[in-house]
Amino acid sequence: AKKDGRSTFHFYEESLEQASDDKFSLLQQIRPAVKNQDFELYYQPIIDMTNAKVISVEALLRWPQADGSFIPPDKFIPLAETCGAINDLGKWVIEEACRYCASMRASGFTDLRVSVNLSVMQFKDGQLNRIVQEALAQSGLLGEALEFELTESLLIDETEQIQKQLHMLTMQGCTIAIDDFGTGYSNLAYLREFKASRLKIDRSFVTNICTSHDNELLVSAIIELAKNLGLEVVAEGIEDAETLAKLQSLSCKKGQGYLWSKPLPAKDLPTFLNKYLPH
Ligand code: C2E
Ligand code: CA
Ligand code: CA
Ligand code: CA
Repeated sequence: AKKDGRSTFHFYEESLEQASDDKFSLLQQIRPAVKNQDFELYYQPIIDMTNAKVISVEALLRWPQADGSFIPPDKFIPLAETCGAINDLGKWVIEEACRYCASMRASGFTDLRVSVNLSVMQFKDGQLNRIVQEALAQSGLLGEALEFELTESLLIDETEQIQKQLHMLTMQGCTIAIDDFGTGYSNLAYLREFKASRLKIDRSFVTNICTSHDNELLVSAIIELAKNLGLEVVAEGIEDAETLAKLQSLSCKKGQGYLWSKPLPAKDLPTFLNKYLPH
């Protein structure tokens, strides 16, 4: 039994080593990939559930590989944050999202807005506001075309510095959404301080809202809280009609999820929007 235990241990150790090798090689590839602009943005529609129209699209990063697969953001974004590449990558995301939004507007989707995810690191180098300003100017967009999604964890530390930068973004006309709401630090004071206009309820609560009474109570409480604070709510990760119906019964008005669409490559979005937008 002891021998078995040891061989199991060795096996485990080897796979850990393998995992950290993979991480290391990925880490080394990030900077060159950012420089090469090897990344791609996919876009997932956010839907007004009261009339089934698309209100905006969320830009989601993909890292395409030579074999046709791609590395998901949950794998490489933490690494990009570790090595500092996230600032250049995040800058590219903002610029690319603006270029895309401008070209979509020019081709007839005149009201399209894009939501861009931000990492806390992008607030730490003090360049964010300038980057956004320049990206907007270069694409000929006004700030109202952009929404920024921030996770709660971002809002815990260095409150004042971040608050100031968020204020500058809203002065340009951009809006702010709190992402993954409910999963992080539960200090609700920041909801008022950060001038957010939206809360996005995390998928982990939405997914089993029909089977878990606790989750239903939680989602219902978040919707009520948002209403009292004058914030809009977007439910993430809606995959089936049952979940949609439950959310509608709780007067949740906006949603996002595979029920309507997975994140789409840039070129495929117009076809989807033509079904959903009058234009
Ligand atoms: P997120 O911001 O919470 O994005 C939502 C994630 O849920 C996306 O995963 C999306 O594809 C997925 N999703 C949407 N609807 C459904 C559904 O109905 N069912 C299921 N199972 N999943 C759904 P994705 O694209 O893999 O992105 C993962 C995370 O990576 C994002 O979570 C975000 O935190 C981060 N991320 C993506 N792009 C960027 C970026 O440009 N910058 C930063 N800083 N983070 C990004
Ligand atoms: Ca998001
Ligand atoms: Ca989210
Ligand atoms: Ca998430």
